[in-house]
Amino acid sequence: MRISETFLPTLREAPQDAEIVSHKLMLKAGLIRKVASGVYSFLPLGLRSLKKVERIIREEMDRAGALELLFPAILPREIWDETGRWSLYGNEMFKLKDRKGRDFCLGPTHEEAVVDLARGELRSYKELPKTFYQIQAKYRDEIRPRFGLMRAREFLMKDAYSFDASEEGLEKTYEKIFNAYIRIFKRCGLTVIPIDADSGAIGGKVSNEFVVISEKAGESEFVYCPKCGYAANIEAAKCAEDMPSEKEEMLPLKKVATPNKKTIDEVSKFLNVPSAKLVKSLLYKIDGEFVLALVRGDDELNEVKLKNLLHGQFISPANDDEIKNIMGASAGSLGPVNANVKIVADKRIMNMYNFVCGANEDGFHFINVNVNRDFSPDTVSDIRNVKEGDKCPKCGTPLKLYEGIEVGHTFKLGTKYSEKMNAKFLDKDGKEKYFVMGCYGIGVGRTMAAVIEEHHDKFGIKWPVSVAPYEVEILSLNMGDDLISNISEELYKLFSDKGMEVLFDDRADVSAGVKFNDADLIGIPIQVIVGRTLKKEGKLEIKDRESGEKMLVDKDSAVHFVLNMLKEKVDALLK
Ligand code: ATP
Ligand code: MG
Repeated sequence: MRISETFLPTLREAPQDAEIVSHKLMLKAGLIRKVASGVYSFLPLGLRSLKKVERIIREEMDRAGALELLFPAILPREIWDETGRWSLYGNEMFKLKDRKGRDFCLGPTHEEAVVDLARGELRSYKELPKTFYQIQAKYRDEIRPRFGLMRAREFLMKDAYSFDASEEGLEKTYEKIFNAYIRIFKRCGLTVIPIDADSGAIGGKVSNEFVVISEKAGESEFVYCPKCGYAANIEAAKCAEDMPSEKEEMLPLKKVATPNKKTIDEVSKFLNVPSAKLVKSLLYKIDGEFVLALVRGDDELNEVKLKNLLHGQFISPANDDEIKNIMGASAGSLGPVNANVKIVADKRIMNMYNFVCGANEDGFHFINVNVNRDFSPDTVSDIRNVKEGDKCPKCGTPLKLYEGIEVGHTFKLGTKYSEKMNAKFLDKDGKEKYFVMGCYGIGVGRTMAAVIEEHHDKFGIKWPVSVAPYEVEILSLNMGDDLISNISEELYKLFSDKGMEVLFDDRADVSAGVKFNDADLIGIPIQVIVGRTLKKEGKLEIKDRESGEKMLVDKDSAVHFVLNMLKEKVDALLK
């Protein structure tokens, strides 16, 4: 493609609202444009990359035996009522009515649609296993659309759904798709870590996230063990058992005035005790029931663990009025002593002596509190967040904490959806059974953005060859010079004839400097520069955008040289 004929509106500066590198570079390099908050158009170069990510996903899903189909984006309310998700999804779901007033939504995901299909069509174990997938726009009215394609409201997703006759069958299917995901992300040039995840609102038992480490663009925190490779997101990461602390003699319980001291920090300073000697008491509402959760002063409560522990669906902190009503005091003065509410304690609390907590009276705290003398929790469990440096629950090595971009997500759903939607097949033994399901998602646009987060420098994008809009860019530095323009045209033809995808900077009215800058910005992996070195030594300059390495090559060996470079780059991805 000739740049003079294509549509490549590059920008010198990215708009103010672009916060992260990939978003800025996609706008600057003319790949996407914003239409509304979280809603984007793909321009020609951006679309080429997106299609390449799609193609890699297709090839690997097909290779894993999955079958591509396409559901509509518009889905009727009835199937969502069957699973209860018409209301559960809340405001994130885009809802609409047809002219007769019937309810529809724009699919945020397609479990209901696929189960509705399967229950009518897959009747016997002989037809199982089956995995269906599609690549389609999803609609989610995200609370905070941001970071460009990373968290959009319309975004392309590859979603897949598997149907097996048994749990063992699901295990096998899950592993196949898991391995396909590893290959997909490698082929896209991404360094992805599969981590244990909480399956959240979608339900089910086991789930994995595929994350790319990114300090600035990552939205999911996870821990990683450098020794044994244990990796889990914060919601799911288990806390290792503490060593029992040395027993202390229990001192008499005492109420002390702590006027206007509410936060852990304030109380800790005022009473001159470390925050690890304080207990934080937090009142939560889980499916309408109140629970007082206790964690050590220097720990954070993990709402997901608390919710899962109590088999809840919805969890939220109690509001000020509720706190006052139930506890008789305000947040900041709460505690478990004499509390008339269910108490869940983090297991670390059981290892504390003579600690400080709120007295359920504004402006007062208790000191020298001891579990099982002054109060008894109803439940003791792991309900805190793992922290950097905590011991790995598998091998004891200090854990590292990272921020990651979640590019893919896989779930073992089991029979959760098939039971709700009464989706059964006839098994070998002549009995009707529920399908055992899995579901598997990849954000196509988010993957593309993550690739840019991982592959860029201050000048622009450094596309891995597999997902670059073009493989080679020819920069003709002076189209007014006959030798330069003739050779450039000749190379453009030669390369194209060999099947390479070539972008040709043939602009006549643009300086060499601008061409260099644009080429580095759009980030085509191999630049073939036709200019000074051709005039002086009869050689072309070939630049590897990734490494920055420049090589002088004879015109006659250019095709061979570039083909070799491309092959090496593709091969390196799967290593
Ligand atoms: P997140 O926690 O980031 O909101 P999710 O758990 O809601 O993600 P899934 O429902 O598992 O996401 O969707 C599968 C994949 O779709 C995700 O792994 C991610 O790559 C992509 N994805 C989800 N939401 C968005 C979004 N708003 N914009 C772009 N991609 C998204
Ligand atoms: Mg989400």
